[in-house]
Amino acid sequence: MKFLRYEQQGSVSWGWYFEDKIGKIDGNIFENYRRFEANISISDVNLLPAVAPTKIICTGRNYASHAAEHKVDVPEIPLIFLKPPSSLIGNNEKIVLPPQSSQVEHEAELGVVIGKRGRWIDPETADDYIFGYTIANDVTARDLQRLDGQWTRGKGFDTFCPVGPFIDTEFDPSDALITCKVNQQVRQLGSTRDMVFPVEKLIAFISSVMTLEPGDLILTGTPAGVGVLSDKDIVEIEIEGLGVLKNRVSLK
Ligand code: MG
Repeated sequence: MKFLRYEQQGSVSWGWYFEDKIGKIDGNIFENYRRFEANISISDVNLLPAVAPTKIICTGRNYASHAAEHKVDVPEIPLIFLKPPSSLIGNNEKIVLPPQSSQVEHEAELGVVIGKRGRWIDPETADDYIFGYTIANDVTARDLQRLDGQWTRGKGFDTFCPVGPFIDTEFDPSDALITCKVNQQVRQLGSTRDMVFPVEKLIAFISSVMTLEPGDLILTGTPAGVGVLSDKDIVEIEIEGLGVLKNRVSLK
């Protein structure tokens, strides 16, 4: 099933998505909920980020091709960092270029949404903790990332984490094509098959550090081809089966 979040006439709801229509959901999608008929037209609502995590845990250099383009080695253990939930935006919302950076780049990534609380999760049982998958863009101020050493500023600006358009609970992450186009030109093309650490190993590693909560979002790294974004660019990230996440770039 495909879940999303939306706002209609000032109220925010979870919904399910079916044949271009939305059905309202009452309750907690990670526990008990009730679905209503999918009869709301998608054009009658504002789509919100498809997730509402307590934290966003990201993975650096998880594709050999991307590590190579930055002339760094693939890590021996997963390299993780955080983005703040305040960086989230939804499908069709604007990525705002901050004045502090002159090199903001896109990073097309598969997002994993956690479904139940866990610590020290075994890779063999990691699947039980996954609620579903979505598309994310780990937008990065590359100049500030390099300048600071720490990645918090370069990765953490408001609007630097577009996510959506929905969470799919039936997606198979083993070999899905990831494409990123900027103004219709293909910039990134990779497969989730080429991750250095697959999803279940990432969940095991991250949960050995911090408790994962329902709704938490894990970004799984980006394939090669990251590049600079400019004012008015249109970024479209597609992952087979998960739809297209589309955002416009803006100076304000
Ligand atoms: Mg990234």
